[in-house]
Amino acid sequence: MKEIKVAIFDLTDCEGCELQFLALREELAAKGKDFQLANWRLLSNGASTGPFDITFIEGSPITDDDVVAVKKARAASKTIVALGSCATFGGLQAALPESRRALNIQKVYGEKYKATSRSPKNISYYIDVDINLPGCPIDKNELERLLAAVTSGKKYKEIKYPVCLECKARNNTCLFLEDGFCLGPITKGGCGAICPTNGLRCYGCFGPVEGANIEAMENVAGKYTDKKYLKDNLELYFKNAEEYKDYITKRK
Ligand code: SF4
Ligand code: SF4
Ligand code: SF4
Repeated sequence: MKEIKVAIFDLTDCEGCELQFLALREELAAKGKDFQLANWRLLSNGASTGPFDITFIEGSPITDDDVVAVKKARAASKTIVALGSCATFGGLQAALPESRRALNIQKVYGEKYKATSRSPKNISYYIDVDINLPGCPIDKNELERLLAAVTSGKKYKEIKYPVCLECKARNNTCLFLEDGFCLGPITKGGCGAICPTNGLRCYGCFGPVEGANIEAMENVAGKYTDKKYLKDNLELYFKNAEEYKDYITKRK
């Protein structure tokens, strides 16, 4: 792997995607491959302010300082990757309705507390993002494919097939045949269909696949569960995704 300068920044998140990064780095190091980490708080590796060849940003910006940090990262980087579903879609923290957020803040900090945090948003709400790498957490193999493409000067090709394709390749019995429902048909692949393979439905953590037919999913899945539960499931990760927002706007 060509020597490239990599930076990893994290905002509001659980750091699970960075742990995948760490695991990949250890695997690559064992094979004698490595990359120069110019800035990674988690490992206390360097504190360079750039320039960087590729910068990964994990989490969603929720403070003014976070927004300044992502703008600085953009200015210092050739390529920006939104790392994980928090960065790509705002993540689980974006799923909470705004009215509930204000209420929860009051419950935790008291009525007099004046919150200064912003609503969690995707990184591309604030800056141009070159590559979105969704997943909660991201898939390590997909991260390796991305790094290999970027370091060899090739274009990284985003996955354009749904989880179902990987699920069928693993010979799983479809949960729809077992009176369950599953968001696999409208969710971007890349995780190897890990949830259905282990008997759990896909809850959409990689976000919508290109061309996702959300209306058809609502119609079909609506036969297996109630509408409110289905909506809550869809909005867990899809809420800030353009495909979902477009669908909701058209439906109004
Ligand atoms: S996308 Fe999921 S695993 Fe990654 S940082 Fe956010 S909450 Fe954690
Ligand atoms: S279990 Fe889910 S991911 Fe697997 S084929 Fe059925 S709908 Fe698709
Ligand atoms: S099966 Fe669905 S919920 Fe599970 S990891 Fe893959 S995309 Fe995420």
